[in-house]
Amino acid sequence: MRNLSELRVPIGLRREFRDGERDQTYPLWVSPAFRGPRMTRIGLVLIAAVALLGLLLSWLAHLLSIWALLFFLGELLVALLTLSVSFTEWFVSNWEAFALGNAFAVILGITLVGTVLGTLAGGILGLLLLEVGSSAFLPWSPHRQLWLNAATIAGLAVFTVVWPRADPVLPLYWLTILAGAVISQVACTTLYQYRSELERHIQTVLRGRKALAAEVREHQNAIAELKQTQTELVQRSEEALAAARAKSEFLSTMSHEIRTPLNSVLGMAELLGDAELKADERRYLEIIRHSGAMLLELINSILDLARLESGRLEIEPREFALCRTIEEVLEAFTFAVREKSLELVTQFAPGLPERVIGDSLRLRQVLMNLVGNAVKFTAQGRITVAVEQVPGFQSQRFRFSVADTGTGIPPDKRALIFEPFTQADSSNTREYGGTGLGLAIVARLVKEMGGEITVASEVGKGSTFVFTVHLEAASSRHEPVSRPEPQEHPRLERQLRLLIADDVAVNRVLIRAMLRHLPFEIDEVESGSQAIEKVIASKYDAVLMDMQMPAQDGYEATSAIRKWEREHGANHVPIIALTASALDTDVERARNAGCDAHLSKPFRREDLLRALDYHLAS
Ligand code: ADP
Repeated sequence: MRNLSELRVPIGLRREFRDGERDQTYPLWVSPAFRGPRMTRIGLVLIAAVALLGLLLSWLAHLLSIWALLFFLGELLVALLTLSVSFTEWFVSNWEAFALGNAFAVILGITLVGTVLGTLAGGILGLLLLEVGSSAFLPWSPHRQLWLNAATIAGLAVFTVVWPRADPVLPLYWLTILAGAVISQVACTTLYQYRSELERHIQTVLRGRKALAAEVREHQNAIAELKQTQTELVQRSEEALAAARAKSEFLSTMSHEIRTPLNSVLGMAELLGDAELKADERRYLEIIRHSGAMLLELINSILDLARLESGRLEIEPREFALCRTIEEVLEAFTFAVREKSLELVTQFAPGLPERVIGDSLRLRQVLMNLVGNAVKFTAQGRITVAVEQVPGFQSQRFRFSVADTGTGIPPDKRALIFEPFTQADSSNTREYGGTGLGLAIVARLVKEMGGEITVASEVGKGSTFVFTVHLEAASSRHEPVSRPEPQEHPRLERQLRLLIADDVAVNRVLIRAMLRHLPFEIDEVESGSQAIEKVIASKYDAVLMDMQMPAQDGYEATSAIRKWEREHGANHVPIIALTASALDTDVERARNAGCDAHLSKPFRREDLLRALDYHLAS
């Protein structure tokens, strides 16, 4: 606890003292020093003023006696002296002794003057004021007050002894002074205790304030650290976003570059399949087609993953037939299942809505992957695909499960298989192929569709993948069940004029070869500007337009053709965009430029024929 005397520092309106680390200034009324020079000075002035008033009255009462006047002037001098001394540095640490000495001098003076005049009638008022006033206005300790009262009584005793012809009112003097002494002593002690108590409270508040200041400083430091961390995090997330964007751009460029030659490889292999081949040659061709197809699957998977990770893959909800869609997925595995003598079972829970709203393409993708894996990793037994609606009021959650009796997945690998490029057993790649991307994409797609996926498995007994997705039951009960894919294209069996615009000769050869059985008259150009010239000069039934061409590309050429058609009231020629990029943005761009359809390289002959058939007919 701070020693009070330390706090009695230079006089002023504000007191300064050290508070913790810093020098603090507090206004007087919160100062812990309740006693001290300033209070003392005010007290002394008050006492002196009242005492002088009493003495002045006493002088007048004694009919303007010269003795009393001298005494009054003397006291006035002492009061002025005390006031001026109270402004000195010295006074700060010696005021109690000074005030007491002063009071002694006054008591002595009053006693002497009283003794000479033979009466204390005038002085007794001054003595009383000194006793009571000092206890009330001087913030000093009770023992100083005791000294003062003792001196007053001693003065009265001296007067009583020295003046043998006792003043007739002497007993009254004694009564007054003794009463004054008792009252002042009690007042001084009580006030002193009250001040001490108050000081203790103020000290407690100050300590609390100091602790609070330390706490505030700590919080400020913590806030500064948090701000720093936040800045770093923002910077890192910006870096990560930039890296993700760069990665995604790199992947789409790579995909484009790989798709272009792959288009020729797969296209030519498909055409070669129509030719008369020896058994060996056909086997080699199958290997080329299989490897090409795997490469294409890999590129598509990587692109999907990049889109999912950069948040660019959007779920497109449409109405579709739920059970029919699942059956179509399973139909794709009929051959593989039959070859491995597996049993493929579907279990549709009762009460499933016939039609639902959701992204059927993505749901297909998830099921294709899970059923594909089940078929891949099961040598014997059965694969069961079950669907049910999760119970609950107006539930829009559907639970799908794909269970197999295959190799199973070791417990330590179960969480890993949902990470990209991870396989439970790396020897799988040699035995079954695969990239380790499928389940990573599945997990992300399921999440995008508002659900989650889990796996339960026992090595040697099989695995069960369970996932939920959010699907809304469609209100309408009839977007017809999927259109049967036309395998024959009778509408193309006529003399049609076609323009192929592609800067790569191999691609032109490939398209021409794909259409060789049809009675088409085909023209070829190598650039966008040539395509515009040709379309303006002669009438075509359709244009196959490569979008990436040097100088004037397919987008510009298509826009120019559409503009010319509008300006000249010419017929709308169907333009089918050919791109090696599979990004949705490119499809959108082609549509905006005026293309009627879009084929992503590599495309199969069937894709090309279907697109032509559809657009020529419409
Ligand atoms: P991949 O293309 O390699 O199959 P996936 O991501 O689809 O990639 O699967 C990752 C790995 O998880 C697989 O390589 C396999 O080890 C394991 N796995 C997935 N499904 C099954 C299953 N039904 N039975 C056994 N193992 C499976």
